[in-house]
Amino acid sequence: MFDFEEERLRQEIVKLGAKRVLIQLPEGLKGEAPRLAKVIEKAGALPIVSADPCYGACDLATSEAESLGADLIVHYGHAKLLKYERVPTIYIEARATISVAEAVEKALPLMANWHKIGLATTVQHVQTLDEAREMLIRTGKTVMVGDAGRLNYPGQVIGCDYSNAKSIAEYVEGFLFVGGGRFHALGLTLTTFKSTVVADPYEKRAYPIDGEAQRVQKQRWACIQEAQKAKTFAVLVGLKPGQKRLEEALNIREKLERAGKDAYIFAVREITPETIMNFPTVDAYINTACPRVSLDASSKFSKPMLTMSEALVVAGEISWSELCKRGFF
Ligand code: SF4
Repeated sequence: MFDFEEERLRQEIVKLGAKRVLIQLPEGLKGEAPRLAKVIEKAGALPIVSADPCYGACDLATSEAESLGADLIVHYGHAKLLKYERVPTIYIEARATISVAEAVEKALPLMANWHKIGLATTVQHVQTLDEAREMLIRTGKTVMVGDAGRLNYPGQVIGCDYSNAKSIAEYVEGFLFVGGGRFHALGLTLTTFKSTVVADPYEKRAYPIDGEAQRVQKQRWACIQEAQKAKTFAVLVGLKPGQKRLEEALNIREKLERAGKDAYIFAVREITPETIMNFPTVDAYINTACPRVSLDASSKFSKPMLTMSEALVVAGEISWSELCKRGFF
């Protein structure tokens, strides 16, 4: 279902003369690790598979590669995100090879009342946006694809960056998200506040995501209210290369202290209940690392886990309705 670009991988390894290669795969593609390791071995390098979780290109395993003496990282499933890499890195985006036509066709009746539609997708399907656009235009729709210039491709979204979609949100009545799962579509709705229909090419079906977005919004309000009662806060700074926001964390800490709260900076690599909930004297957490942990896994944490934007409500800097206008992250 995905293009792993084995031939390009082989050529790059030979061209770079790499001798030790660290392979990073997202969770859904980890099953391919032995096969890809074999390709690397045949190209003349020692493959080492990173078994750690990897959810985005923000999590490039630079320190791990350095400590293992790897001279190349091969990062699968995400487009380049960091501006600079300390260790040479090849990104293999793992573009999907399945057709999106059937799912888009099924989405059409769900968008019957919309005239102007925005398109969004993940890097796996950016090559299908032209086909989706043509299908919508044939039914008389006006179609827009945002290109705010922050991500690699027009129309592309990642879990924490919807700038392409946001750049056109005011001109469209809703979005068609082409891709699998609910994660990105949910983020799209929670940042643009526009209705979103998902065309899922893996399940060959289409469905609206708005009801789920409303449920998440209610959960967030409950979390913020609970955090408002908290006295002691831990402001989490991520240790992954693309998640380290120490300045922002210090800024949030200052705002919380001005609002009469105690706040401390905690450094963390993986934000999980097991690592974070071992501090009984902390009442609530502000997550400056991956904002989606707060939104998508909030029920796993026994204490409030707020995003940076939500922390501004607790600190009295913005209101709940302002937060709902600017987005949750
Ligand atoms: S910070 Fe989170 S949502 Fe953003 S790219 Fe990394 S893992 Fe994905």
